[in-house]
Order: sequence, then C-alpha cells, then structure tokens
Amino acid sequence: MAANEEKKDPLTLVNNLHSTLDVNKILEIFYNHLKNIITFDGLSYHNAYIKTHYFMGETSQCQFNFNLSIDEMDLGEFILSRQSQFNDHEIGILEEQLCFLINPLRNAITHYEALHAALHDPLTRLLNRGSLNNTLQREMKMYERSQSPLSLIVMDIDDFKQINDQSGHLVGDDVLRAVADIISQTIRETDVAFRIGGEEFLVLMTNTDINGANILAERLREQVESCHISHKGQNVNFTVSLGIAQYRQNETQHELIARADQAMYQAKRTGKNKVICELIPSD
Ligand code: GH3
Ligand code: MG
Ligand code: MG
Repeated sequence: MAANEEKKDPLTLVNNLHSTLDVNKILEIFYNHLKNIITFDGLSYHNAYIKTHYFMGETSQCQFNFNLSIDEMDLGEFILSRQSQFNDHEIGILEEQLCFLINPLRNAITHYEALHAALHDPLTRLLNRGSLNNTLQREMKMYERSQSPLSLIVMDIDDFKQINDQSGHLVGDDVLRAVADIISQTIRETDVAFRIGGEEFLVLMTNTDINGANILAERLREQVESCHISHKGQNVNFTVSLGIAQYRQNETQHELIARADQAMYQAKRTGKNKVICELIPSD
C-alpha cells in the first residue's frame, strides 16, 4: 500500500487505536489520522468524568460537536472546528471515522475506571491509603534530587463518633464528603490528598515548608469550621484537628507520618479544632 493510502487505511487506524489504553494517546492517533481525511483546524475532546480535556490544533468559529456514547455509556464530547461549515458529505465521513474511535475509547475509559477504583476511596473519591506509600516514596526520592521542601498535614475530624451517634451514619458520610470537598477545593494542583482512615485525611505538599503547610492547615481548619450540613432542619457543625510535619532527609515514611500524627494528637489533647506544628526533636 502506498504511504499516503496507508495513512487513510481504517485497518491501520484501528490497530493503532487499540495499541494503547491511554485516552490522550488514542486521541493523538485519531487526530493524526483524521488530518489526512478531512480539512480542519482544531480537535478537542472533553470528558469531565475521567478529568480529560484534550486539544490539538487551533480553535475556529465553525464547530462540529458530537456526544460519543456506546451501550448507554457516555464517552465524552468530541469537537472539530474550522473557519467554514462542515457539509453533509464531510459530516458523514466524520461519523464513519468516529465509529473507529468508539471502542478503543471505551476500553481506555473502562481501564481508567478500574485503576481509579483500586487507588481511590469510593465515598470521597480521594486517593486511598494504599496509594499513599507509592506517592510518598516517589516524592521522597524527588526530594533527594531537588532538595525542595516536602510537608504533610494529618487531619482528623473531631468527635466524629458523636456526629454519627446523634445524626446517623448517613449524615456522618455527608460530613466526610464535605471535608474531602473542602480539601480538594483548598489545596494547590501539586498537592495530593488522601483519606487514610475512617475520618482521617492526609495532604502531601511538594515545594512547601512547614510555614507554608501551617498556612494551608489553618485555612483548612477555618473552612471546615465555617461549613455545616443540614439535617432535619438543623445545622450539623463539625471541626478538625490538624498536625503538620516537614520531611527530614533520611527519615522513613513511617517516621514522617508519625511526627505529623503526634502533632495532631497534641491538637486533640489541647482542645481540638486547632493546628499544631511538628514537635521539636529532643536530639
Ligand atoms: P476524636 O475527636 O478524638 O477524633 O474523636 P472521634 O469521635 O472523632 O474518634 P473515634 O475514633 O472515637 O471515632 C471515629 C468514628 O468514625 C467511629 C466510626 O464509627 C466512624 N467512622 C469510620 N469510618 C466511617 C465512615 O465511613 N462513615 C461514617 N459515617 N462513620 C465512620
Ligand atoms: Mg476523630
Ligand atoms: Mg481518628
């Protein structure tokens, strides 16, 4: 087959699309293929569920929008744009080509979901305890190279048992989700949040020393304090205690977390709803 024909060959396309489970790579393969078939300026793809926003080329005023789905599974929105309208013939070709994309995209999304389920807590959608070891290990290795400060916050909901006992477990679950949402909305993109136990959370902050961690922890404390859940016409309020520690060279993960934990317990012992920095080492 001539090189030019091969670029348009559907079998080559399908083989290439099935060679990866990475949504961005699939879209890149599709983009490069489509360029040989139809004239367009930009291709974008959005799927909020898998947090993917892909864009190649340039945005132009005339758009062809297509909501991709298969067997009632939403696969995201596909948009092709250029200066002039797409005619019916081109739209027919596009729809034909999109059929090749559907199955590989579904496989990639299903793969993402499986990975997501293994690494995340289903209630809050934050990363789970199992993800913590790997992430922390990786960041500690990065620290050895960059020497850029690494800090963490351990955060525990105060008197959570009482909330469950007084308002019920479903309200308790709402409180857990509310705290997780506050964390997600307050931290930076480079920070990572985990639910590490029943009502215990951990935030890992790269490029952040103990002073930066203290500012974020105090902000989290204030946000939680000013939040409430409505239950049977009443407001359910809640607070958190936080402990923070900055990574010291050569210490283990366990030692680092234990120092933040100790600080958090100190916050509990001295009245709750407060932030305590790592305790000064005795050596
Ligand atoms: P402290 O202020 O000292 O942290 O007290 P506490 O009541 O928050 O702590 P305690 O360890 O006594 O109780 C934690 C409670 O969290 C007990 C457990 O039933 C509840 N819990 C753990 N996981 C979940 C969950 O997924 N959903 C709900 N609703 N409750 C949970
Ligand atoms: Mg608690
Ligand atoms: Mg606890």
